[in-house]
Amino acid sequence: MKNLVLLGPPGAGKGTVAARLVREFGFIHVSTGDMLREEVNRNTPLGQLAKGYMARGELVPDEVILSMVRQRVDAQQGVLFDGFPRTRAQAEGLERFTCVDLVIFFEVDEEEVVRRLSSRRICASCGAVYNLVTQPPKVPGKCDLCGGELIQREDDKPEVVRHRFAVYMKDSAPLVAYYQSRGLLHRVRADRSPDEVFQAIAEILRA
Ligand code: AMP
Repeated sequence: MKNLVLLGPPGAGKGTVAARLVREFGFIHVSTGDMLREEVNRNTPLGQLAKGYMARGELVPDEVILSMVRQRVDAQQGVLFDGFPRTRAQAEGLERFTCVDLVIFFEVDEEEVVRRLSSRRICASCGAVYNLVTQPPKVPGKCDLCGGELIQREDDKPEVVRHRFAVYMKDSAPLVAYYQSRGLLHRVRADRSPDEVFQAIAEILRA
């Protein structure tokens, strides 16, 4: 099975579509953001190190991310990388321990990202993602899947979101050209519903 990378700015909808790709295609989901949030919640040494970077919307250092991912996926196939790689050094590091077969680039502009993230809520227990406008939970404030409490991420506050977008443009956007030059890049318009985005990606995967 292929290894897939989801590339795009924060708020592009990568996590939402990733959950469905995992359910329907059986990928192993590797979200470095989710892994880091778990480390922070468990207050591990890695979590303590990552916490400040995350709260400021900065990237956690490449070598920390690479060793965390490597431990999780060494030699596995059928991995869906979500929010990783985010820098050229991470992309090159990843290639040293596994191959990338396909990259999906989520195209969406900054205003849409800010609008989406300000209404995003996540489940404090299971990490499921909601949007108060477009994908509200059935019972306000409660997760449909596990009944957990829905919270706003600290880094989804508007000032931090703008900074995360700027970090994305500087460090991660160059990966579009990097993967395009390797013939791996597929562009998907992400200013659509999660279902439409999912269908577009499913078509690419089945091709
Ligand atoms: P995300 O949930 O993907 O938006 O990630 C939340 C935060 O975790 C980011 O703003 C970074 O601080 C950190 N993070 C997640 N993935 C990475 C990565 N691949 N490289 C560096 N930092 C990351």
